[in-house]
Amino acid sequence: MREPCILSVVVPMYNEEQVIEATYKRLTAVLEALGEPYELVFVNDGSRDRTAEIVRKLCRSDKRIKWIDLSRNFGHQIAVTAGMDYASGRAVVLIDADLQDPPEIIPEMVKRWREGYDVVYGKRVARKGETWFKKVTAKLFYRFLRSMTSVHIPVDTGDFRLMDRKVVDVMKEMRERSRFVRGLVSWAGFRQTAVEYVRQERYAGETKYPLSKMLRLSA
Ligand code: UDP
Ligand code: MG
Repeated sequence: MREPCILSVVVPMYNEEQVIEATYKRLTAVLEALGEPYELVFVNDGSRDRTAEIVRKLCRSDKRIKWIDLSRNFGHQIAVTAGMDYASGRAVVLIDADLQDPPEIIPEMVKRWREGYDVVYGKRVARKGETWFKKVTAKLFYRFLRSMTSVHIPVDTGDFRLMDRKVVDVMKEMRERSRFVRGLVSWAGFRQTAVEYVRQERYAGETKYPLSKMLRLSA
């Protein structure tokens, strides 16, 4: 019988052929060292490159990978939602595929969760290798968001976070099609805390979030 899964790590991927193998290796090293039964939930968001092929190959040698292959490109927010729907862990981590969110922060998130927090979100204290334009638009985006809503959404956080099963179950009840996952998580309440991290450079490839998509996210 399979051990009950403690930790699920959800990774959305859109045209990430250049990074998947490196990300898989770094995640596996961190998660094995943690010593908790885990699963990786890889979500292919309609990639047009070799992403699917590479992940299928990894699946053959590693039974801890769950593989979700979306029928087209639905966008990052829908991809992480699909991943959460299939994640079975007592805690679920969302992390980008491009190593901008360092996997080495996950053990710290797990520690805070063990202390009793239901949501542990990553708070960027610095960003490496992003253009001043990206930094300024991101900053404005979060300040604008804050002024528009009464829900407290912490600034300078992305979707890199750990959520307890009970938070994931609440998220599963919310089926908004146009969704902003971190806003929904803030709205859900529970005990939330931050861990700080330095946002790294994208390992390879380029951003799939041009300004047009940023604006759509805020609409
Ligand atoms: N992504 C996705 N679907 C999309 C766009 C992006 O699943 O339509 C994934 C992407 O592969 C990455 C994460 O979402 O794992 C964040 O995207 P990206 O790194 O391009 O955004 P940025 O970090 O530049 O804001
Ligand atoms: Mg990125």
